[in-house]
Amino acid sequence: MKTESYAAFSLRLHQRVAAQRVPVGGTIEVTRRCPLACIHCYCNLPIDDQEARRNELTYAEHCRILDEIADAGCMWLLYTGGEILARKDFLDIYTYAKRKGLLITLFTNGTLITPEVADHLVQWRPFSIEITLYGRTRETYERLTGVAGSFDKCMRGIDLLMERGLPLKLKSVAVTGNTHELWEMKRFVEEDLGLEFRFDAMMSPRVDCSLSPLAVRLTPEAVVALDLQDPKRVAEWKRFAARFNGPARVPESCGELYNCGGAVTSFAIDPAGKMSLCSLSQRDTYDLRSGSFREGWERFLLGVRRTKSTRVTKCTACEIRAMCGMCPANGELENGDPESPVDFLCRVAHLRAQTMYLAIPPHGECEYCEGGAGHDGLMQSLASLSNGGARIVRADSERVKLKGGGQC
Ligand code: SF4
Ligand code: SF4
Ligand code: SF4
Repeated sequence: MKTESYAAFSLRLHQRVAAQRVPVGGTIEVTRRCPLACIHCYCNLPIDDQEARRNELTYAEHCRILDEIADAGCMWLLYTGGEILARKDFLDIYTYAKRKGLLITLFTNGTLITPEVADHLVQWRPFSIEITLYGRTRETYERLTGVAGSFDKCMRGIDLLMERGLPLKLKSVAVTGNTHELWEMKRFVEEDLGLEFRFDAMMSPRVDCSLSPLAVRLTPEAVVALDLQDPKRVAEWKRFAARFNGPARVPESCGELYNCGGAVTSFAIDPAGKMSLCSLSQRDTYDLRSGSFREGWERFLLGVRRTKSTRVTKCTACEIRAMCGMCPANGELENGDPESPVDFLCRVAHLRAQTMYLAIPPHGECEYCEGGAGHDGLMQSLASLSNGGARIVRADSERVKLKGGGQC
């Protein structure tokens, strides 16, 4: 019998269904309420926010939507929040989804995991569980989450899942307050726990367009310095570049705005049943409370997906897009305009490409390319990075304010 890895199977399936536009992957945010109060969070509300609770889909509405997404061909589902377990009936919703045969990933902070929750997950095993670790020490973890006692609860949650052999991965978000513990987190997770670990340093504004998370965002130089400290990470970026760098569109043409899998193979649903192309993109939503998933997918999201770019920007023919997180959702959140390049992302991408000796062909009026206003500064940062002199400091809050303020 011919066998193949799960990754190869998944890639093959996604390629096949992309041609037919099948919604194989979905993200459902069950709540934005959470017992923690992380300063970098892009969406959380207090756990006892009654109005938020009242607006959340009911159990019956979740079941109806699950029936519809399974009928439409969904195979992979991500449940996220807020904190998924802040909803008392989350395990009921989850179990219903399991009965539909979906492969389910759970994103949680781990603090509300009890022996009963963990036992239930043994009985109804998820495809994967991911817990975010905010620090290696109690002091750092709780400085980020703002809640005393949360570190011990998270560690207990991890223990409960590990004792039961559940498929757990840990990850972190690198912000100004925890980078000094990042490598110790990695060592702890990989060596002491024997689990997979990854981290992300790319923060976005909140979905309500508040810029508060950006106050703890690392500078572009610090983001790239972290890349360079990990040879495995550098090798992964190089592999990624070899595979995906290159122009997304024919230069000078205005093609479709979106170039990702959103609304081609994937969709997102927020706690109140608003469906969109992805969790970050809040501009165009379809209300699943007043219409069916099929209608939303086949008509509404297809229309969103076919949105045309209105203008040529420096991103249009950029060949280092794979080094960059710029996409319409990020433009929308940070600049109030899906087509407006996010300066932070652009600087990270150019620095990353420079440090990895990747070609950066001209791509219009780009301040970080040769001749651009920011090129000399970028070269100074590069020199500083290659001398090992990167400083991990706060992003310039004045610059942040000038960019996105009040546009949503
Ligand atoms: S645990 Fe997650 S959802 Fe809760 S506040 Fe922190 S980042 Fe936000
Ligand atoms: S933001 Fe900059 S690096 Fe990113 S795609 Fe646009 S031009 Fe390229
Ligand atoms: S975050 Fe950006 S790239 Fe990802 S699905 Fe949304 S629009 Fe597409």
